[in-house]
Amino acid sequence: MADAIKVLEETCVGCGLCVKACPFGAIEMDNRLARIDLAKCTLCGACVDACKFDAIEMRKAQPETGIDFAAYKDVWVFAEQVDGQVQSIAFELLGEGRKLADDLGMRLCAVLLGSNIETATNELIERGADLVYVVDRPELEHFVDEPYAAVLIEMVQRHKPNIFLCGASTIGRSLVSRVAVSVNAGLTADCTGLTIDPETKNLLQTRPAFGGNIMATIVSPNHRPQMATVRHKVMKEADPQPGRTGEKLIEEVAAEILKSRTKRLSFVPEEESTVNIAEANIIVSGGRGMQKPENFEMLRELAEVIGGGVGASRAAVDADWIPYSHQVGQTGKTVCPKIYIACGISGQIQHLAGMSSADIIVAINRDPDAPIFKMATYGIVGDLFKIVPMLTQHFKKMLGK
Ligand SMILES: Cc1cc2nc3c(=O)[nH]c(=O)nc-3n(C[C@H](O)[C@H](O)[C@H](O)COP(=O)(O)OP(=O)(O)OC[C@H]3O[C@@H](n4cnc5c(N)ncnc54)[C@H](O)[C@@H]3O)c2cc1C
Repeated sequence: MADAIKVLEETCVGCGLCVKACPFGAIEMDNRLARIDLAKCTLCGACVDACKFDAIEMRKAQPETGIDFAAYKDVWVFAEQVDGQVQSIAFELLGEGRKLADDLGMRLCAVLLGSNIETATNELIERGADLVYVVDRPELEHFVDEPYAAVLIEMVQRHKPNIFLCGASTIGRSLVSRVAVSVNAGLTADCTGLTIDPETKNLLQTRPAFGGNIMATIVSPNHRPQMATVRHKVMKEADPQPGRTGEKLIEEVAAEILKSRTKRLSFVPEEESTVNIAEANIIVSGGRGMQKPENFEMLRELAEVIGGGVGASRAAVDADWIPYSHQVGQTGKTVCPKIYIACGISGQIQHLAGMSSADIIVAINRDPDAPIFKMATYGIVGDLFKIVPMLTQHFKKMLGK
């Protein structure tokens, strides 16, 4: 079916509102009648909204995808595990997935891949999964892109989920994009909000766009499953309900799809003298105001005294003062600590996007007009090189360290 738009000649009064509204310059007036250049028109609908006389009719064709939408059921969550330990992002997805599944009257399912991981299924059921698909094979002990993606593609094709959620973690990002491409589904990355459209029952996927300046809501009306990744710490974890019961389905897959061109030789964990910021309750973060890498030692010392982790702005990471794993913000980690202490960070929107949900924000900056102060619970105007050591000494004394 072809897409179509037309001006109703008997209704058009030639007011020109549609000409002004068209962002593509596709409409002009011809003898007090709007004429649409179909070569330029993108069927965005701006003219239809602008016309006060209902004189423009648009029929946007549903592409004939051949997809049997009714066959796609359930809300799926990828249960990321590392060394057999289900990661907290999976519990956050279960918390959000539960609401979506209830809205749709569908089951909430978790997909768990690994080796000797069956025991983790109970944990997933206790956190809200109605059904856990388990693929338990030695080849899946550690995450490797190819076999993990191949197994998930097989699972999606076999069981046809309506919605498939995955953490926007290093593993999730690498994995789920391969799956989306192979099953010809759209994928919305880094969602901060997920709801169901009450009319169409489509998944409304909200995420920051244009550098965090606007929130965009994205829909995948023509493809299934509807796939989205969600950042860690943006959504609330599902609480465990001890004794909750659910189903477990052990899935078999052909040995052929477990083959991989890459092999994991070893794993070298990053050496951390302080707490990992993704899980930290307190974060002491440094920005360009730290001036050089050695000065981060001052933040590490404060963080150690108060049991926190060390974060950084992108400016500090780009300057190679601290590794990327410490970066907080739009292109770094989203953190949700109880206390966030920002030292020498101006508070640009991309940084705020990663830490604004902290309960208490303390900003130390020598510029009283720094934007971070608008967001801060407590602001200290002054030189961080004087203030941070004073705080460290004070906390040492207070905590008897
Ligand atoms: C697409 C995109 C994605 C981005 N993603 C991120 C992201 O994930 N995370 C992120 O942080 N940024 C990100 N940025 C960069 C962001 O726009 C800012 O450039 C960055 O956050 C600035 O870092 P800063 O605050 O450390 O540096 P600056 O903006 O230079 O601020 C330094 C601050 O230190 C203060 N200062 C200096 N000396 C002292 C002192 N002795 N005592 C006290 N205060 C002092 C200054 O007054 C100033 O306010 C992104 C940008 C883009 C375009």
